[in-house]
Amino acid sequence: PSKEKVCLIGSGNWGSAIAKIVGRNVVKFDNYDSEVRMWVYEEIVHGQRLTDIINTQHENVKYLPNVKLPDNIVAVPDLLQTVQDATLLVFVIPHQFVKGVCEQLKGKLHPNARAISLIKGVDISNGGLNLISDMIQENLEIDVSVLMGANIASEVAMENFCESTIDRKNGEAFHKALHSPYFRVAIVDDVAGVELCGALKNVVAIGAGLIDGLKMGENTKAAIIRIGVMEMKKFSQTFYKGVKDETFLESCGIADVITTCFGGRNRRVAEARVRTGKSFETLEKEMLNGQKLQGTLTAKEVHEILKSKNMVKEFPFFTAVYRVCYEGLAPKNLVDEI
Ligand code: NAD
Ligand code: 13P
Ligand code: CA
Repeated sequence: PSKEKVCLIGSGNWGSAIAKIVGRNVVKFDNYDSEVRMWVYEEIVHGQRLTDIINTQHENVKYLPNVKLPDNIVAVPDLLQTVQDATLLVFVIPHQFVKGVCEQLKGKLHPNARAISLIKGVDISNGGLNLISDMIQENLEIDVSVLMGANIASEVAMENFCESTIDRKNGEAFHKALHSPYFRVAIVDDVAGVELCGALKNVVAIGAGLIDGLKMGENTKAAIIRIGVMEMKKFSQTFYKGVKDETFLESCGIADVITTCFGGRNRRVAEARVRTGKSFETLEKEMLNGQKLQGTLTAKEVHEILKSKNMVKEFPFFTAVYRVCYEGLAPKNLVDEI
């Protein structure tokens, strides 16, 4: 049988951390091609092309500095060249860019191509709620699995032990490429549950960061997290009937909520929103050096879905976070709304 060839679509903070794992794993197995192409949205860093920097220094100096990538990770600026001959596609780009990327990939993939999405977000571009994995599946007509978990990229890159959650669909082939002793991937049977956990926890993290900014203390933050998890579960099970209760106890569930609400970018920027009074947009630019905030956009997308279903009142926490982000609700009034 021919070999599996893995490629990475995305090379941000998480994309680069996962490249380190995949690059090492593929050389361990005979049935994987040892070259892994990684699509880089090209930009100039310190006067040089980022792809050239990655291919000579083996480091993504902008999005994951001070971490060496394996030599078999090849940065490619051309999307179609990246996916050429690839049978296993790892999607790891901010969710707002998926539609554009899929449009370019339509009809260009290897006949045996399958994908996995590491992307935390939802899609509402067709008017209703859609999973990012379904959006990729519908556009490219390939099978799409998902991997989500308590995985802050910089910590994974340092090889500190953590866990993650993958669904069973193409579990086997992707599991071998992604699992490692310090990155333990558990397999579950709940694509929608895993993916919605990953998307919705970013909204909870915005709420938790606002509470941090207000210096209201740990009891309040714990309450926000609990209420947030309840709304994550209710939202997921309202829109996807098969979503299992147990999924919320996997790494993709409660563990990701915890890590993101304590150590994530969404938390950090939301705290600064209260402390500085600056807008989320400004702070994203000032604080994240090109990395993207996903929680504010997801709060908006979730709100639009709830509005269209007349369910805004049933999700007071998600609604309050949305209103702080987009309607000028004062952060100090967040708790009065829930
Ligand atoms: P990032 O936020 O670090 O970087 C942004 C990336 O987007 C950069 O690679 C940039 O080049 C690229 N980009 C900018 N404009 C673009 C465009 N127009 N089209 C395509 N790409 C463009 O990225 P990330 O952290 O790797 O996040 C990717 C996904 O992974 C997100 O859904 C995120 O929620 C999820 N995730 C992140 C982490 C983490 O710790 N960073 C952990 C788990 C999951
Ligand atoms: P942030 O984007 O808030 O940093 O969250 C990262 C993450 O998804 C950790 O699992
Ligand atoms: Ca669908």
